[in-house]
Amino acid sequence: MRDVLRHYIDGAWTEPLGDGTAPITNPATGETSGVLALGTSADVDRAAAAARRAFATYSQTSVTERADLLAAIAAEYERRAEDMALAVTADIGTPLAIARITAQAGVGQFRELAEALPAYPFEEHRGRSTVRKEPIGVCALIPPWNYPALQMTEKVAPALAAGCTMILKPAEIAPYSAQVFAEIIEAAGVPQGVFNMVLGKGSVIGAALSKHPEVDLVSFTGSTSVGVQVQKDAADTVKRVTQELGGKSAHIILPDADLTSAVATAVTGVMTNSGQTCAAPTRTLIPRARRDEIVSMIRTAVDAVTVGDPLTPVAMGPVASEQQWHTVQRYIQAGLDEGATLVTGGLGQPEGAKGGWFARPTVFADVTNDMTIAREEIFGPVMTLISYDTVEEAVAIANDSPYGLAAYVDGGDPAQVRDVAARLRAGQVALNGAPLDQSAPFGGYKQSGNGRVWGIAGLDECLEIKAVVGSAS
Ligand code: NAD
Repeated sequence: MRDVLRHYIDGAWTEPLGDGTAPITNPATGETSGVLALGTSADVDRAAAAARRAFATYSQTSVTERADLLAAIAAEYERRAEDMALAVTADIGTPLAIARITAQAGVGQFRELAEALPAYPFEEHRGRSTVRKEPIGVCALIPPWNYPALQMTEKVAPALAAGCTMILKPAEIAPYSAQVFAEIIEAAGVPQGVFNMVLGKGSVIGAALSKHPEVDLVSFTGSTSVGVQVQKDAADTVKRVTQELGGKSAHIILPDADLTSAVATAVTGVMTNSGQTCAAPTRTLIPRARRDEIVSMIRTAVDAVTVGDPLTPVAMGPVASEQQWHTVQRYIQAGLDEGATLVTGGLGQPEGAKGGWFARPTVFADVTNDMTIAREEIFGPVMTLISYDTVEEAVAIANDSPYGLAAYVDGGDPAQVRDVAARLRAGQVALNGAPLDQSAPFGGYKQSGNGRVWGIAGLDECLEIKAVVGSAS
């Protein structure tokens, strides 16, 4: 058993004021692995007061001091990278090999900003004015659970780089990675009160932060429905709310695409992390003339996805919780009920699964874009294949979604691939299987959010703009 029972407030591991707790469940076994403290709004008040006090001095630090601090955190994080990967696997069942990669992505967030910070234009001259960019103040950081290492760091790194102080409320089903992360911050020498962490439920701690008069910005990543609630809770205090929300991203496989590469992008994109990826290409748009060939290739690739204990070398572990497993089952049933063709997978657990919340890698073909499984985010290992007749139609289907987080285009003619990418209403478009680029902004159009994370774009979100008019001389 590993318990996570103390907040980190004002530079110290702190007992909660209330006595609420919740069990922590290992999704690979369904068994209890520890106990998590559930804080109260009184704990939030203590953390907000500490962050406000620390802001007075931390906001005045030099760019060099902050760049050095980010580099120190990156070094400490690197030292603890294996602990972080193991914590991610224990939290949500990500296979260890993939958890190691996501833990490294967390280091990347600190490195990227440590390098970019010295050249950032915090002050510019325009007309008779000096335009200054200043830290916005106390930030409430509310990440989801699906890539916890990356999602905590992509919020904390830019806030520290900007000169802000902060309160992190980690996702309640990823507490082990939060504990390791706070230990890294402490060991790296972040000044007292600059970084605070309050454990507990989103509906209690997250809501208290969103409403809090001492919080100047809420950086939220999660579902669109909770994002809307956060925005409403924050409205009375007119604080800035930056949101990274859900997705239902389209992957257009053009008629002349290299199918081997496009199918690999499609299958890896959906099945990695058991389909619990906000930017997963869950709507695969395929040319009708090549439908049978592509469906057959996708079936072969998906049937080769190994599912099992995430501490063994498998491609896929469980989904993160019992609730998530039932959600996935409901969507698979909806696909069957609404007449999509089940290509492989389906309801229930994969053959040989013992305990835990394992779902079957599932593919539906002949999906139409009005079906529930094409419109709603499933957050599970379920691919939907939608056939199109013309490229024009493919672009229209891709854009016909309330979401606009990511998109993917595969094709043989670079000019056509770029043209299609330009017409897609999504915050990030990956061409021909391009890997992630952490220096590029990440965030969504439409109901996928209104903010950006990663690199300079994440830093911009944490800054206020002040115009100093005239020279006073
Ligand atoms: P969620 O919305 O249930 O929870 C997200 C966070 O909000 C958690 O920390 C939770 O405790 C907290 N929360 C819950 N209720 C709250 C409230 N009333 N006020 C404030 N905070 C509250 O989402 P989840 O299940 O943790 O994550 C999955 C969702 O996140 C998916 O929709 C996925 O697409 C989205 N996501 C988006 C991105 C992106 O960058 N756009 C990245 C990852 C995940």
